[in-house]
Amino acid sequence: MRQSQLFTKTTKNLPEGEESKNAKFLIKGGFINKSSAGVYTLLPLGLRVLNKINNIIREEMNALGAEELLMPALIHKKYWEQSGRWGTAAQIIYKTGVEELNYGLGWTHEEVISAIAKHFISSYKDLPRAAYQIQTKFRAEARAQAGILRGREFLMKDLYSFHADRADLDGYYEKVIGAYKKIFKRLGLKALVTEASGGAFTNEYTHEFQVLNPAGEDTVFYCETCGFSRNQEIYKPEAHKDCAGEVKSGRAIEVGNVFKLGTKFSESFNLTYNDKTGAKQQVIMGSYGIGPSRAMGTIVEEYNDEKGILWPEAVAPFRVHLVALGDNPKVLKEAEKTYELLSGLVGEAEVLYDERSASAGEKLNDADLLGIPVRVLVSEKTIAAKKLEVKMRSVEKAEMMTLAQVKKIF
Ligand code: ATP
Ligand code: MG
Repeated sequence: MRQSQLFTKTTKNLPEGEESKNAKFLIKGGFINKSSAGVYTLLPLGLRVLNKINNIIREEMNALGAEELLMPALIHKKYWEQSGRWGTAAQIIYKTGVEELNYGLGWTHEEVISAIAKHFISSYKDLPRAAYQIQTKFRAEARAQAGILRGREFLMKDLYSFHADRADLDGYYEKVIGAYKKIFKRLGLKALVTEASGGAFTNEYTHEFQVLNPAGEDTVFYCETCGFSRNQEIYKPEAHKDCAGEVKSGRAIEVGNVFKLGTKFSESFNLTYNDKTGAKQQVIMGSYGIGPSRAMGTIVEEYNDEKGILWPEAVAPFRVHLVALGDNPKVLKEAEKTYELLSGLVGEAEVLYDERSASAGEKLNDADLLGIPVRVLVSEKTIAAKKLEVKMRSVEKAEMMTLAQVKKIF
């Protein structure tokens, strides 16, 4: 991709009230645009990152045997009334000219998936099943000042599972925890599996995936020796037993959580199956969320310096940033050749080529802000040395490399 053709440009202007690091860097870099408080456009650069995050999530969900679907965001009042949650949805009225229709904007989809599952689950042979979606959710969040960490409109991956009995749910729940661990590791996030309260649905703990970071709104108590971690909401010192390790506390960002719903929704929706003896049983359910847009914000909160973002390779908008320095036609000719070569190595879609006619300072500052992991520079100096200048975003020093050495990076 040629940088002169990008839909966006970097900017020094920030909308008022954007204090968080993720919003600052993502807006300055042209990854997102603020529409209103808590509502953002994912610009082409930002969407590249989000798509990579989503694909990692998809791969691990599919490996669990879960199938992807897409439910409506517009959920009719009757669904919410059936579970007693009409009051929890951001409500909107459609005036069609003939009638007024009441909908809630989906903030979670237990109601809709339970109603759908009724069509397909009737026998023990239909269990277990699991389906997930990656979808825009709506929440009337009171505070929306943390950039894409807390949106009023945001993206969620929500997985729902259906089981014949508790033991089957328990086994699946552990598998989902395993899949989540893989996902966050691949995203470059160190997530603590943290016990939290089950709220109204269950006396058991639920588990949150918490990334220690000062931008977080939660506080967790954790022990690095035994892996204990519990949300402050329910923490008591005596909870950490049989381990001499020190319990520390820190602010953390909740990037995901897993929840045993039990029969809460299968009861509301009369979702039953016939067991082997022909007797009717309630279906047992689990629900499991990840916030891909919050994960993207968390990655920026974790990987930045004063100049900009340092994307981990797995989610970087491009794998390599090629920069031509100076207007000398010889430099541009050499840079074009290098663009072809790098495209051959990682695919043209993974190379951002800065062929703009701009000052060296502007180009290098933009490269630091955008945070692509590898920067390859072509200049009069590199041509004279018959080499390329390579700099990793995460390393201070640049290195002169031969073509053969550059090839080895990818
Ligand atoms: P929080 O306590 O942060 O409000 P939650 O407990 O309400 O989160 P869930 O309802 O379980 O979260 O949603 C599943 C996941 O969706 C969360 O783990 C989080 O990653 C993401 N998420 C929730 N609310 C938001 C939001 N307002 N903006 C962005 N992501 C969100
Ligand atoms: Mg919430």
